[in-house]
Amino acid sequence: MASLSLRKIKKVYDNTVVAVQSFDLEIADKEFIVLVGPSGCGKSTTLRMVAGLEVITEGELYIGEKKVNTVPPKDRDIAMVFQNYALYPHMTVYDNIAYGLRLRKFPKRVIDQKVREAAEILDITELLKRKPKALSGGQRQRVAIGRAIVREPQVFLMDEPLSNLDAKLRNQMRSEIIKLRQKVNTTFIYVTHDQTEAMTLGDRIVIMKEGFVQQVGTPNEVFHHPANLFVAGFIGTPQMNFFDARLERTGDDYAVSVGGAQVALSAEKCRRLLAGDVQSQDVTLGVRPEHIQLTEASGGIAATVDVSEMMGSAIHIHVDAEGRDVVIVVPVSEEEAESGVWYTRGMPLRFVFRGSAAHVFDKETGRNLELPPKEPEPPAEEPALPEEPPAGRVSLEKPAEKQREPALVPAGPEREGEIGNPFADD
Ligand code: ADP
Repeated sequence: MASLSLRKIKKVYDNTVVAVQSFDLEIADKEFIVLVGPSGCGKSTTLRMVAGLEVITEGELYIGEKKVNTVPPKDRDIAMVFQNYALYPHMTVYDNIAYGLRLRKFPKRVIDQKVREAAEILDITELLKRKPKALSGGQRQRVAIGRAIVREPQVFLMDEPLSNLDAKLRNQMRSEIIKLRQKVNTTFIYVTHDQTEAMTLGDRIVIMKEGFVQQVGTPNEVFHHPANLFVAGFIGTPQMNFFDARLERTGDDYAVSVGGAQVALSAEKCRRLLAGDVQSQDVTLGVRPEHIQLTEASGGIAATVDVSEMMGSAIHIHVDAEGRDVVIVVPVSEEEAESGVWYTRGMPLRFVFRGSAAHVFDKETGRNLELPPKEPEPPAEEPALPEEPPAGRVSLEKPAEKQREPALVPAGPEREGEIGNPFADD
């Protein structure tokens, strides 16, 4: 168990590709942190720097009290589970889990106890004698997790561990990871591109884009108070709707005007906007699909149905409104479902939303106007004698050794260079 501190971490590949920059994060002991963002945003690079698989170009990484920038992976007391399970195909499940402990010369009795405990936690006791090829994808991933658990690491790193699994299995494994977390009770850093995984697993979520952290917060914070348009659009499904709108301030009150409708913002929103002394201006307005209500009245915003999708307990109606594609989620009761409520193409509708559901973003920067503007960073001081080598020389250093394990052919796409597990088996 350990806390981590990532301070102004930067990664430049080959002196040219800036993969991660200005990455600042304090991770508490036993916290479950999820790094999420679209492909290429720098999640895996960040995780691999924590693991010691990539050299940190700039910044400082602490595990507990110790600065570990140059500590080799095997000495960081970290376990990592990859997207591809990297099991030894010729060994039984038992031997796969026990392998790293045997290498470390643990007594046989201790190994047996640890393997059986891990198997119990992961509900794979009955599979211990099987070879990996006789396991399903989900079971293989559990074995890979088992191999990591027995090491009782200070920090558990997981890089897209569920993305090779089909949707149903992914949901199941997701809840198993929640249970696992309660049982092993250590610090987790989990990488995914799937915002649902991030929302359900993370104590806090770090949302990244193009190498920069966009927001760090609890699932509740990032959903209800997205820092900018990117986070607003990335978190939540279906995606938040956006409109061109006008924010009007009258004294201490605010309202948004869109499509001829005017909606007074809630007291809480007004308080936040006032704190930033936000003035009347054109804005991008965001409203989540589930926060829109259809209305019979002549007020509201006019729309025309494009398509509607029956999802069971709700209908997702895609409409054209104000020159934008807008999605409205309408809950459906059992009676309505039986009587066949449907919204056909071309049907005119009107909709409204409450002032508490409106998110207003700066038209130019995309910043959420409810949040305080970011303090400008103080100019970086020139260190007299740099502790770390300058960025330009880092790639000349020998990178952390990547050790490879033979991998089972994964069920899904495999990313080059992610097969090795230098933590379990050194
Ligand atoms: P993510 O995990 O969010 O998909 P990555 O951390 O894998 O993103 O990649 C971040 C950026 O760094 C991307 O632009 C990617 O192309 C680049 N990158 C990743 N690994 C390397 C590498 N070994 N050499 C050069 N560029 C790399």
